[in-house]
Amino acid sequence: MKTNRRDFIKISGAGLGTAALATSAYDWASGSVLTNATSAPRNYERTPTYCEICFWKCAGWVTKNEDGEIWKITGNNDDPHCNGRLCPRGTGGVGMYNDEDRLKHPLIREEKDGKQVFRKATWSEAFQVIGDKMKTIAKKHGPECVALFTHGSGGKFLGHTLKAYGSPHITAPSFAQCRGPREVAFYATYGEGVLSPERTDIRDTRCLVLIGSHIGENMHNGQVQEMSQAIDRGATIITVDPRFSTAASKSKFWLPIKPATDMALLLAWMNVLITEEWYDKEYIEKYAYGFDQLKAHVQQFTPEWAYGITTIEPKVIRETAKEMANASPAVIVHPGRHVTWYGDDTQRLRAVAILNALLGSWGRRGGFYSPEKVSIPDFPHPPYPKPNKTWRDAFPNQYNLATEILANGICDATIPAPEKGCNFKGWIVNGTNLIHTLPDQKKTLEAIQALEMLVVIDTMPMEITGYADVVLPECTYLERYDAIRNSPHREPVISLRMPAVKPKYNSKPDWWIAMQLGIELGLEKYFPYKNIEEVLDWQLKQVGSSLDEMKKVGVKKFKREYDDLYMVDGQDYEFNTNTGKIELYSTEMANEGFDPMPVFKEHEQPPPGYYRLNYGRTPAHTFSRTSNNANLLDVMPENDLWVNPKVAKLWELKNGQYVWLENQDGIVSTFSIKVRVTERIRWDSVFMVHGFGHTNKKLTRAFGKGASDTELISKVLQDPIMGGTGMRGNFVKILTEEPKIAVES
Ligand code: SF4
Repeated sequence: MKTNRRDFIKISGAGLGTAALATSAYDWASGSVLTNATSAPRNYERTPTYCEICFWKCAGWVTKNEDGEIWKITGNNDDPHCNGRLCPRGTGGVGMYNDEDRLKHPLIREEKDGKQVFRKATWSEAFQVIGDKMKTIAKKHGPECVALFTHGSGGKFLGHTLKAYGSPHITAPSFAQCRGPREVAFYATYGEGVLSPERTDIRDTRCLVLIGSHIGENMHNGQVQEMSQAIDRGATIITVDPRFSTAASKSKFWLPIKPATDMALLLAWMNVLITEEWYDKEYIEKYAYGFDQLKAHVQQFTPEWAYGITTIEPKVIRETAKEMANASPAVIVHPGRHVTWYGDDTQRLRAVAILNALLGSWGRRGGFYSPEKVSIPDFPHPPYPKPNKTWRDAFPNQYNLATEILANGICDATIPAPEKGCNFKGWIVNGTNLIHTLPDQKKTLEAIQALEMLVVIDTMPMEITGYADVVLPECTYLERYDAIRNSPHREPVISLRMPAVKPKYNSKPDWWIAMQLGIELGLEKYFPYKNIEEVLDWQLKQVGSSLDEMKKVGVKKFKREYDDLYMVDGQDYEFNTNTGKIELYSTEMANEGFDPMPVFKEHEQPPPGYYRLNYGRTPAHTFSRTSNNANLLDVMPENDLWVNPKVAKLWELKNGQYVWLENQDGIVSTFSIKVRVTERIRWDSVFMVHGFGHTNKKLTRAFGKGASDTELISKVLQDPIMGGTGMRGNFVKILTEEPKIAVES
């Protein structure tokens, strides 16, 4: 991972003072915030917020004590994202505010005595450097050659500045590295996506099927609560996972499938539902297109055929299909969230969408509901300039079905290639640590080396920060206003985030950073307001509320405009597809030259001595972003490696022993990882929680803790339909001796 021109810079004494830890709030927080649920004394002030520790964005209250310090963060009872209860990460959010490793001042890269260092800078110096670079790029290559990567609320404001500058290239790794295939698959089938939060009616379901989705470990708050309600009401849970996850432990059926064979199971389930005539006939006859083709297509995919591939017995395949049919239409074959696995992910998710259609669950109570959101207008501004080229020019006739810009596509189109119609020269990276987010770190670093400008806007010195030309310290969500949270739900609902405390150090909110950068670029006319409060108040007044009202209530629900939460049986509906029907046979896929119905494709299995690298989530952390949070580190300080006892015996591994991992391309984990011998994982796979193994020493608590799955994901299986990056085709062997490698940074 050695780089040349753009050296990785440790954010160190070069201009950074050592901040004193705000001990009182910190000590208090690390102890009682995580468990305290008592109500605050009357005179304690509280301000509304929505959590930024993960994308679920639960609305809550920040309560301060008499000294003006944050006392606790609790959920807002009126918010359907959390129903008044935050997860451990949300209550521990104050650890982010108190983190003494935070970025504290703007930093500018410069050469000193032949060495690249960061110099502490003023905000105006930093904006001047960025403004000059952006103006030069616009002149030389066109403004479209600057892209914004974002995974946070601030992206809205920075995106506005970028569009005003002339670039439409705003991308989030959450599409091509995570949920993109399911959106594309569901659009192809129903003409609508699954959205976020997912439109799954889990609270009223009678059967929930989870395929590689570990709800409970991936703490999507509202879904976890609804799943627990459904279990209390007697719903059946069917979990398909090579690992006995927390969800599997709550399930009536655990199907420990051979990894990479899920498509065979899905096709066999379709075969059983159709052969046994257990599918929802009326629903399919009235609303679906292509049933006869599907029936002929799945005829060969019997449970006996699938058994040889998946290792799931035919009896179990039939029994679970029957269980789903009995619950129909109140059944959900969950589309999952992180679904970029083996490169045929859109087709696998098409199979999930089709299975739901056969069960009649789309648009039905206990299946998938129709969400609604408030229509909040933008603060008036002049039209954005029309771009002369887009990222698609770099990939002619590819990924036409991608509904969002591919983060990996921008990365690929940054590596110089004169034949490409669009080459990127500048990145602004906000709230996403691309070194850990994008697979194939070698390629990410190659792209970074080719950039003329890299600006990182973040709260923490993540790995990506070290490669920046300019670093801008963003204040935490507890110190700032952000855009109104406006998410689709059963009832339209909005939520306000406002500062509970003043920004620490010299950090600033994104709305301010975006506005000042816009002014630096001469784009004043796009910012016809004094501050964010004026914008929010104007927007809220357009929908019948106000900033004053939202400061008091935090969350406001609205009446649905359309009475269509569920479909009415027998009523005619037109779906937003080419045929106006639910497409079991996808005309869109066929038009693009792809299989119109999903087919089984064999995937590579680990060679002898190697195990499939599976990774996932934990309730205590969000990706690599929280691993320095003192409160959350107390709960989980490092990740461990799940190893089946057979594998442990073979390699003489003991529980608690530290090992290193080497992948199929010879890449060795920088740090060691602790072995956890458990029957809860198949013998052909290992499992680790994503987001550990930080190499940046300025993350003083997270540095060197656990191993990084991302650095071992060098093989990327790209989805030809929407360009997503399949990451589950990597295999590792276990090294018991410390390999001789140099630790960077
Ligand atoms: S699920 Fe937890 S971390 Fe995510 S937004 Fe809600 S409280 Fe925050």
